[in-house]
Amino acid sequence: MSDNPLIEYAFPELRQWEQGEAPYVHVRDSGKPGPTVMVAALTHGNEVSGAIVVDALLARGLKPRNGTLIFSFNNIEAYQRFDPKNPFKSRMIDEDFNRTWGRLDQPPTTLEARRAQAVRPFVERADVLLDLHSMHDDCVPLMLCGPLERGVELAKRLGTPADIVRDRGHAAGMRMRDYGGFGDPKSHKTALLIETGQHWRASSVAVAKDVTHRFLAETGVVDAADLPADWRQPAPGKQKVVQVTHAVATKRGNFTAARRFEGQEVIAKAGTLLGHDDGEPVTTPYDDCVLVMPAVNRPLRAGVTIVRLGRLV
Ligand SMILES: [Zn+2]
Repeated sequence: MSDNPLIEYAFPELRQWEQGEAPYVHVRDSGKPGPTVMVAALTHGNEVSGAIVVDALLARGLKPRNGTLIFSFNNIEAYQRFDPKNPFKSRMIDEDFNRTWGRLDQPPTTLEARRAQAVRPFVERADVLLDLHSMHDDCVPLMLCGPLERGVELAKRLGTPADIVRDRGHAAGMRMRDYGGFGDPKSHKTALLIETGQHWRASSVAVAKDVTHRFLAETGVVDAADLPADWRQPAPGKQKVVQVTHAVATKRGNFTAARRFEGQEVIAKAGTLLGHDDGEPVTTPYDDCVLVMPAVNRPLRAGVTIVRLGRLV
């Protein structure tokens, strides 16, 4: 028996989308004024809920009424190497595509850095970006809106998911969603990164559809009526925002958890032991500390984020 999670939906055949403005990047220009809006999937090759959404919108022939729409399948090579017997491996090939964005002016040494350089002109054109991800572990959907207030505001205008995470990204390298104007306090550009749920849950596809529907309608490039009506889900009653204060990375990849932890779990007492990294205790720094995407229940490579810690604001 395999320990791998069940894959609850069929993966799309994406080869028909190879020919675009760049491979697996498609631009639809209305010829009218309006924002340039980008929806990206497969930034991580095994996060397939977003690929289903982008595939469906391309197949529908969705065109903007105003401005420009850009669709991309980022780490398509990793996706095409997906092996159901080793499903977590196709997150990437040489390195994490979503940690390369701080060094794209250097000669690329990996497949992902080369691909990010090919995708970069489209990311630079975009005024608004939605990057569709999913998670290794079962967790409620999370909207990662970056460090700036305008990211939180856009996440609130979408009205879902319930959990918004305000964060600065990873020490291991810049994410696409923080690149250029998206990370510039003086720019008008805004990017959101949705973690739709566990990679291969059917519910993650439902979340990706709902969030993309809301996102595209909110930007005004299309009318809500242009989108599949059955993609919309009821909104949660209330959204809450967690401000990430710490990102804890494992020094050498030998973190051992004190117990099993769940995503968005709130740890009441400051000083609660989360586990040991290289024998050193890792504890919560304040009361009511939220564990954002804890990866404490499985082995990790050196330098990888174990957990982000945050406060409800
Ligand atoms: Zn991801």
